[in-house]
Amino acid sequence: EKLDQGLEKSKSNFFSKLGKAVAGKSKVDDDVLDDLEEVLISSDVGVSTTIKIIRRIEDRVAKDKYLGTEELNAILREEIASLLSETEDDNLTKKPELGHPHVIMVVGVNGVGKTTTIGKLANQFKNQGKKVVLGAGDTFRAAAIDQLQIWADRVDVPMIKQQMGSDPASVAFDTVQSAVKQNADVVLLDTAGRLHNKVNLMKELTKVKRVMQKVIPSAPHEVLLVLDGSTGQNAFEQAKQFSAATEVTALAITKLDGTAKGGVVIGISDQLQVPVKYIGVGEGIDDLQDFNKIEFVDSFFN
Ligand code: GDP
Repeated sequence: EKLDQGLEKSKSNFFSKLGKAVAGKSKVDDDVLDDLEEVLISSDVGVSTTIKIIRRIEDRVAKDKYLGTEELNAILREEIASLLSETEDDNLTKKPELGHPHVIMVVGVNGVGKTTTIGKLANQFKNQGKKVVLGAGDTFRAAAIDQLQIWADRVDVPMIKQQMGSDPASVAFDTVQSAVKQNADVVLLDTAGRLHNKVNLMKELTKVKRVMQKVIPSAPHEVLLVLDGSTGQNAFEQAKQFSAATEVTALAITKLDGTAKGGVVIGISDQLQVPVKYIGVGEGIDDLQDFNKIEFVDSFFN
């Protein structure tokens, strides 16, 4: 229900436009397909993913000869769901077997909701009875350290930091080392959020990884990329840049409550082949949900 509310704007946008596309039509013809294409593009699904979806619908129309507009919803749902990937449950719950903390490196550009997402996750993990340690690895801005500290205090979890301008890799080392000492279950490590060029980004993230691997060779166990879902094509570009700079293992897509363009989730997931793990649907501490593709697709159509 919360998902429905969170996606209200995307949902009404998508559904009403889709409704208009098929209004008065008894079968899926070229006009309907053209309109559908427009609906998908304007929901920020992205051009190549939209073309892929339209081709698949065309194939179904050709095969079935006659395809009624009532069936279009069901087929769209199927096709969209098949493009989305979600994660299987991660190994966070397997800490005793792992014998070391599960390290999540969180990456993303300033302003996308990285700090908020870390705070929300810290709260979720803590509520699951897990011992969480935060690392203030965005040492470029004093505000980034302060904001994360506010969340650490609010959720009441320890945070490792150094002063502004210090080496992010050094903060990563301290954080992971401290987490091991405290026998923590999860590390959430913030990283620099400034948009720098690909080479610098790659260098920095590679160094952060290398240094934390001195403490736990298998770390990071997850690289979570946070993207602002309301920025459409910008989110796409950032996703591409980060994937080129480091191996992104999961996505958190934020601010889906504030946009009518939730379709971006579909495009990014399809284009990057990286599973969407979380979606942000508000500013509150509980407004982060595990991504479930069937629920997500249904929320667009119901
Ligand atoms: P950072 O610079 O990436 O760390 O971004 P912040 O975590 O500071 O978030 C930037 C702004 O976005 C803040 O005002 C947050 O409250 C807001 N924000 C973060 N996630 C969401 C979300 O899912 N929905 C909405 N509506 N706002 C969000």
